[in-house]
Amino acid sequence: MPDDLPPLRDVIRSHGLNARKSLGQNFLLDLNLTSRIVRLAGPVEDTTVIEVGPGPGGLTRAILAEGPRKVIAVEKDDRCIAALEDVSSHYPGKLFIRNQDALEFDYKPETEAERIRIIANLPYNIATRLLIKWLGASPWPPFYQSMTLMFQKEVAQRICAPSGSKAYGRLAVLARWRTRPEIVLTLPARAFTPPPKVDSCVVHFIPTEPVGVPCRLKDLETVTAAAFGQRRKMLRSSMKQISDNPLEMLTGAGIDPRQRAEQLSIDDFTQLAQIYGSYTAA
Ligand code: SAM
Repeated sequence: MPDDLPPLRDVIRSHGLNARKSLGQNFLLDLNLTSRIVRLAGPVEDTTVIEVGPGPGGLTRAILAEGPRKVIAVEKDDRCIAALEDVSSHYPGKLFIRNQDALEFDYKPETEAERIRIIANLPYNIATRLLIKWLGASPWPPFYQSMTLMFQKEVAQRICAPSGSKAYGRLAVLARWRTRPEIVLTLPARAFTPPPKVDSCVVHFIPTEPVGVPCRLKDLETVTAAAFGQRRKMLRSSMKQISDNPLEMLTGAGIDPRQRAEQLSIDDFTQLAQIYGSYTAA
């Protein structure tokens, strides 16, 4: 270990951190791998890194070894806090541990100039909820420069799916509306302890100018949920779930009502969300 702290297996044993499925605990114990993930996130000097779910601290240690300005680590499991405090003593003034639920954690940048990256091996049970929370950041451009996040492989593929593909759906529209997501690493299940049932991927997201016309995240969520919830149906039929007059809504957005959800571009969905938003605001 380059940091002289005990090997993670010893940390897990001495702090009794037997993995809990309910908390999505699949740990990365190989420091070469965690260092690789941090490097994929980009330079962290002069940067505040927010890490969700540090657990026993493997990825946290890899981030700290790259010399960030500081790391804010948000961990729900009380059992991990003592182990993380040991890491904190090793890097004085660098690691700030927040023992709370990441879904409720609301990071406020200290200054406008603060550079922030989010890096996390996410708990799978809340991974997409956290992603949508960060995609919905207001104002936009968001408080972070990038997000480098581990997901189940199938979820990562859905996030990055191009329109027209089988995996294209709500997640791809929401992610590609405001960011450029890219799968930068694929890991077999055996890379984790304990191994989950499926392989995983790291997705790197760079925030961009929003695609299409201005619309609200919640309206985009509603129209994509309705459209992809019945993806085999024509939009004139699936949009009945959210509109009394789907034909007017679709033609107003310049969309052929006979099309199906997967044929629409992200721009089309923003048009639809904008019109839907104007109806519901009235
Ligand atoms: N970062 C560690 C690693 O890479 O080995 C652990 C990753 S593990 C996949 C997910 C971590 O998220 C666990 O430590 C778990 O306790 C934590 N976690 C689960 N739900 C959480 C929540 N709602 N808020 C914050 N942390 C959570």
